[in-house]
Amino acid sequence: MPNPISWPASTDETVQNLVRLIQAETVNPPGNELPAILVVKDILEREGFSAPDDFTIVEAAPNRVNLIARLRGDGSQRPLLLSGHVDVVPVERDKWSHDPFGGEIINGEVWGRGALDMKGFLAMYLQTFLQVHRQGLPLKRDLILAAIADEEAGFESGSKFLVKQHRELIDAEYGFTEGGGFTMHLGKTRLYMIQVAEKGICWLRMTARGAPGHGSLPHDDNAVFHLAEAVEKLRRARHLPVHITPTFARMISSASGQIKSPLGALAGLLRSPAVVNLLLRAAKGRSKSLLTALTTNTCTPTALKAGQKINVIPSSAEALLDCRKLPGQSPEDVMREIRAITGDKINLEPIDTSQGTEFSVDTPLYRLLERETRKLDPQGIVVPLMMPGGTDTCNFQDAGITVYGYTPGLLPADFPVVSLGHGHDERLPVSFIESGLPVLWNVVSEWAAGGF
Ligand SMILES: [Zn+2]
Repeated sequence: MPNPISWPASTDETVQNLVRLIQAETVNPPGNELPAILVVKDILEREGFSAPDDFTIVEAAPNRVNLIARLRGDGSQRPLLLSGHVDVVPVERDKWSHDPFGGEIINGEVWGRGALDMKGFLAMYLQTFLQVHRQGLPLKRDLILAAIADEEAGFESGSKFLVKQHRELIDAEYGFTEGGGFTMHLGKTRLYMIQVAEKGICWLRMTARGAPGHGSLPHDDNAVFHLAEAVEKLRRARHLPVHITPTFARMISSASGQIKSPLGALAGLLRSPAVVNLLLRAAKGRSKSLLTALTTNTCTPTALKAGQKINVIPSSAEALLDCRKLPGQSPEDVMREIRAITGDKINLEPIDTSQGTEFSVDTPLYRLLERETRKLDPQGIVVPLMMPGGTDTCNFQDAGITVYGYTPGLLPADFPVVSLGHGHDERLPVSFIESGLPVLWNVVSEWAAGGF
C-alpha cells in the first residue's frame, strides 16, 4: 500500500516548484520557454522519469520548447491531458512592489509573474501527476502532462505546433487547462465557474475614406470626420445584438437552480434576449462589461490612425477594433452587425480571427468536476463559464480534445484575481494551492483510474 498523501508536504513541494518556475524568466514576446522547461525536466528526472520513454521535449524554434510527459494506463480509455503554458506576459518592473522574477513568499502568497497565469496552476498539475506516479495508481487512461510554449502570443510555437506536428504526443479525449474552478466573489455569493467555452478573436481594421486637401481649406468629405462619426455611432449603440449561446443558457439555468432566494427564479429570465437587452441598458461597471461579453459579439475600438502632417487633410483614416465573437459566429456576422450601426461608408477588413470554442457540459467528466467543486465549497455556486478572452483551447478543439478550464481552489474575498492576471504584483495565495490540490487529486485520480 502506498503511503497516504500528506497535503501539507504536497503543498510545500508545489510552492517550491512554483518558485523555481517563476525564477525561470519566460517572457513572451519575444518568447524563451527553455529555462522553465528545464525546471520541469529536472523535477521529473529527480523523480526517476527519463526521456524518451517517460517524457519528450520538442522544439518549435530555438529556445521555444514544449515538454510532454506520460503515465501509461491500460489503454481501455482514452488519455487525459493536463496542459499548462510556461510563457508569461511582459512586466513593467518599476510598477511592482517586489521582484517579478524573484518568486518570493510574502505573507502567505507566492509573488511573481506567472504565479496566476499560469505557472501556479501548472505546478499543481505537475504535483498531481507526480502523486499519481508515487501512489502507483493503476490507470485506465494515460495521464499526459504538457508544459507548453507560446500561449501568450499566437500559439505558433506551442499548442498549434503540437497539434500540427506532434499530435500523437497530446492526443487525448479530455484535457484541463487554466480558466476556472476558483472562487469568484460576487457580493456575498461565491461562484465557481468551470470554463467550457471561449470567445473567438475577430480583430478588424475599419477604414474611412475622403477627399485629400490643404488643411487651410476645410471641406466636409474629411476621412477623419467620417471615421470619428462611425466610432461615435458604435459608442451610442452601446453593444451589438444579443445572442444567447447554449453555454450562457446553461450557466443561467444552472445558477438559478442553485440560488435559494427568489433571485434564483428571476435569474432564469436572463435566457430571453429581450430581458438581457433591458439589463444591458440598466447595468453599469463590471457587471455590464461581463454581461455584454457573455451575450454579444463585442466591438472595442483600441487604436486610431490618420494623417501625417498637421496641414494636410488625409484621404483615409483607420481604427483598429478588438472584436470578440461568440462561438458559432463568423467574422462576416460580426462585420454585418457593425455595418448595420455605422452604415456602409466605412470599410471593414479582418486582421486576425480565431474560432471560439464551446465544449459540451453533458459529459461524465463535467459532472465529476461539478461534484468535486461543490465539495470544495458546499455553499458556493458552480456554473459553466464562457470566457470573454481566449486561451489555446481552440487548437485542442481542432485536435478533437474536449478541454475544460479547471484549476480549482479557494480564493479569499479581498484577493483581486481578475486584475492581477496580466497586471502588476501578480501573486497566488499558498492557501489556494493547499485547498485546490486535494480537489485536483480527487478528479484526476478518479477520472484516470476509475471506470468511466
Ligand atoms: Zn494563461
